[in-house]
Amino acid sequence: MKQSIILLFSLLFCSGLAKADAAMDANFNKYKEAFVLELWKAYPSWASSVGYHKYDNALIVPDDNSRKSELAFCGKQLLALHKFQLNGLSDLNKIDYHLIENQLNSAIWAVNELKAYEWDPSGYNVSGGFADMLSNNYAPLDTRLRSFAARLAKVPAYYEAAKKNIKNPTQEHTQLAIEQNLGGVSVFEKDLETALKDSKLTAAEKAKITDDAKKCVAAINSYADFLKKLDNKTPRSFRLGKALYEKKFDFDIQSGLGAEGVYTAALEHKKLLHEHMLMLTKQLWPKYFEGRPIPQNPLVAIKQMIDSISVTHVKPEEFQSNIELQIPFLTEFIKRNNLIYIDPSKPLVVRREPEYMAGVAGASINAPGPYDKNGNTYYNVGSLDGWDADKAESYLREYNHYILQILNIHEAIPGHYTQLVYANQSPSIIKSILGNNAMIEGWAVYTERMMLENGYDADRGLDSKEASMEMWLMYDKWNLRSTCNTILDYMVHTRDMSKEDAMKLLVDEAFQQSAEAEGKWRRVSVTQVQLCCYFSGYSEIYALREECKAKQGAKFNLKKFHEQFLSYGSAPVKYIKEMMMK
Ligand code: ZN
Ligand code: ZN
Repeated sequence: MKQSIILLFSLLFCSGLAKADAAMDANFNKYKEAFVLELWKAYPSWASSVGYHKYDNALIVPDDNSRKSELAFCGKQLLALHKFQLNGLSDLNKIDYHLIENQLNSAIWAVNELKAYEWDPSGYNVSGGFADMLSNNYAPLDTRLRSFAARLAKVPAYYEAAKKNIKNPTQEHTQLAIEQNLGGVSVFEKDLETALKDSKLTAAEKAKITDDAKKCVAAINSYADFLKKLDNKTPRSFRLGKALYEKKFDFDIQSGLGAEGVYTAALEHKKLLHEHMLMLTKQLWPKYFEGRPIPQNPLVAIKQMIDSISVTHVKPEEFQSNIELQIPFLTEFIKRNNLIYIDPSKPLVVRREPEYMAGVAGASINAPGPYDKNGNTYYNVGSLDGWDADKAESYLREYNHYILQILNIHEAIPGHYTQLVYANQSPSIIKSILGNNAMIEGWAVYTERMMLENGYDADRGLDSKEASMEMWLMYDKWNLRSTCNTILDYMVHTRDMSKEDAMKLLVDEAFQQSAEAEGKWRRVSVTQVQLCCYFSGYSEIYALREECKAKQGAKFNLKKFHEQFLSYGSAPVKYIKEMMMK
C-alpha cells in the first residue's frame, strides 16, 4: 500500500515535470530572442560587427553613465535568466543558459574589477567599425553613409570620455593605442572621400560629413597627443597578476581545469612532445645525416632535424593549387576511415584571398555570420605572387610540405570548416554570438592529431595506415607552438617571466625563429588568456575522448564520438562533457 502511493506520487510528479519542461523550454527560447535584441541595443558596435545593422548610427560614449547602464542591463538580464530552472531545460538550452550567464557576469566583472578602461588606452578606437561601414556591402552605399554620418558626430565626445577614464596605463597598451589610432585615420580621409564620390548624397550632406570627419580626425590626433604627453611616472605593469588572470581565464576559456590546471597540463605535454621528437630524431638521423654524429644536446639535435626536413616544400607558384588539391583528398580519406560524416551538400568554396586580406598568405576560413545564414563559407588561400625570393623561401620552410597538410586539416577538413557545418545544424544565435573559442580552436587542433593517429599522410596515399616519421616530427613542432603559447601566457602574466626566459622557451624549446618569438612577446604583452585557447580546448577534447574510450571499451566508435561531440554546437568542452557523460 505504502509503496504504491509512493509510485503513484512519483508518476504524477514526473509527468507534471515533463509538461513543465516543454513549456519552460519554449519560454526560454522566447527569452533568448528578447535577450539578443536587448544585447544589441546595449552594445551597438558589437551588433554591427556580427552583421546586425539596426544600431549602426549609435556610438556609446564610454563614461560613468554608460558603465552604469551596462551594469544595470547585466543585472536585469541576470534576474530574468535566473527565473528559469536550469534542470528543466533541454541540453542545448542548458548550454545557452550557461553562455548567457557567463557573458553577463564577465561584463560586470570587467567593469568592477578588471577595469581595462582605465589602464588599456588601446581599448578606445573607432576606426574599425567605420571602415566596415565603407567596405562591407551589406546595404546601399547611401544608407551606410547616413549611418556613418550619425555615428561620426559622437566621436569627439567619445575620445573626451576616453581621456577622462585613463589612469596610470601600461606603457605597452599606450604605445599600441597611439599606433592603432593614428593608423586608422585614413578611414576618415582617403577612404571616406572615395565613398562620398561614389554616393548620391546631397551636397549639404556631403559637406556635413566632411566637416565632422575633420573633427573626428582632430579628436583622434588629440587623443594620441594626450597619450604621448601623459605624465606617467609609475606605469602599471602589463602583467595582469595571478588573481585577475585566473578570473579572466575562467570567463574567457570556461575550462573545467582552471588556469593553473591547464598550465600544468601544458608543461607535462611539452615534456612528452620533446621525448617523442627526440625518439623520432634518433630514428631519422641516419637518413638525413649519414655518417655524422648526432649532437649531445637533444634540443640541438631535434632542431637540426627539423631544419633539414623543412626544406621540402612546394614551389611558390604552386602554393595555392597545392592547398586546393588537398581538400578532396582529405574528404576521401575521412570517408574511407569512417572518421566523421561530412555533408556533401555544403561544399567548401576555395577562393583566392580577396584583395583587402592580401599579403598575409596562409589560409583561413571565412564563415557567414549569424545574420547571413545563406552566405557561402570560403576557404581563403593566400598567394605568394610578388614576394621576393628570400621572404618566400623562409615562409615556405615554415609552411613546408608537412605543415601545409596540417594547416589544411586545421582550417578546413575536418577542422574549422567541418565544425562549422555541424554547428549550423543545431542553430542557436546564442552559440554563434557567444560561442566558446577554446572549443572551436581546440577542435581544430584536436583533429590534427586525430588525422595523424589514423595514418593521414598525403605521400602515402589514401590507404595509408601510418603517417611518416617526418610528418609526426613536424606535427610535434606545430603542436609545441600552442603548448608553449599557454606556458608563456601563464608565466608572463602570473609569474613575472622575463623576456629573456620567454625567448629561451620559444626559440630553444619550441624551435621558433627569433622574429616569430619577438612577435609572440609583443602579443603576450598586450593580450591576456587569448594565447591559451588552442591548447586548453585541445587537451580537454583529447582527454574527454580517452575517457569515453575507457568507459565504453569495445563499444567505442570514433565516428559516433566526433558526431555527438559536434552536435552541441560551439559550447565549452566542460558542458559538452557533462551532456556526453550522462
Ligand atoms: Zn627551399
Ligand atoms: Zn584555428
